[in-house]
Amino acid sequence: MSKIILDNNIEELTQILTERYKVPSFRAGQLYKWLLAGVDICQMTDIPKDLRTKLDEDFVLNPVTISKKLTSKDGTIKFLFGLHDNNLIEGVLMNYKHGNTLCLSTQVGCKMGCVFCASGEGGFVRDLSAGEMLGQVITAGAKDISNLVLMGSGEPLDNYDNVVKFLRLVTDEKGLNMSRRNISVSTCGLPDKIKKLADEKIGVNLSLSLHATTDENRQKLMPIARTYSIAEVMKSAKYYFEVTGRRITIEYCLTKENTTMFDVKRLAELTKGLPSHINLIPLNGGTKSNIIACTKEQAQRFADRLITAKISNSIRRSLGTDIQGACGQLRAKFVGCKEGKNDLK
Ligand code: SAH
Repeated sequence: MSKIILDNNIEELTQILTERYKVPSFRAGQLYKWLLAGVDICQMTDIPKDLRTKLDEDFVLNPVTISKKLTSKDGTIKFLFGLHDNNLIEGVLMNYKHGNTLCLSTQVGCKMGCVFCASGEGGFVRDLSAGEMLGQVITAGAKDISNLVLMGSGEPLDNYDNVVKFLRLVTDEKGLNMSRRNISVSTCGLPDKIKKLADEKIGVNLSLSLHATTDENRQKLMPIARTYSIAEVMKSAKYYFEVTGRRITIEYCLTKENTTMFDVKRLAELTKGLPSHINLIPLNGGTKSNIIACTKEQAQRFADRLITAKISNSIRRSLGTDIQGACGQLRAKFVGCKEGKNDLK
């Protein structure tokens, strides 16, 4: 059994409380309400003290705490979250017109090694459990969050079972009951897992990190492109759309190399017959790669050319650049990219 109590849904919690602690099932409802509100055990006043003591001994009740919180000039909040084993992960809370979006992490570190991304700089440490993902939402202030993006550190589909479990927990009507339409899973493109996720019928949005239009160029940016071709990845994205009916978001970092007229033509070919929107992402610096970012003018010209080619797109507003807003940057700063070193000053 998991030590992290939030890994359980209300039915599982009821079973634990009635079978293990021999208390009436209504206690599970009381406990779950407090846990989802992020309330400390000593404030769960309607639960008997001896039960609280036992739960506190047997479980991690509050798996995600705030180690550091930085607020950007634009209102973006970057969290450095601490886990029960002293690992650190990041979350970013962004304020948009339509509400607050939390960008959360799915792994400590990452195996994928995309050259522009800081998440994997210290290597891969471990997967997060479903309850640790839910804990990020709770600790960041669930009641004020309307949208979730699984775009923090880690590759969600490389931690498939826990991510699916989390998606079910967070959309559970007896839990936080968040709308599946307001949740996006971002992936570097693992075709089999994309198809499997489609078949789960959860109905969340899929964001595909494409970043290049030829296998050769994609391989320079993303090691995973050596395993799966763009053709295979796009085929799985088409399958995702066919099964879920959800329009696919394609994420595309803007570099000098991948924003030519040829790329416009290729993007038109690749997205033909696939309802999609391209999110153009200004490259966020701070990593050690030698890729050259586009200027603002080049980015705008590329966006205009895509529009002329009738390809729906938008340039993503960069938020939180003054607080190491992009994936892994804040954690990389604090852990010195070394696993286990957790010295916050
Ligand atoms: N592993 C998943 C989710 C995490 S990254 C994925 O690959 O999609 C979320 C998005 O931010 C991805 O599109 C990723 O490629 C992009 N990203 C990472 N570092 C970046 C940087 N420094 N500048 C711009 N985009 C970045």
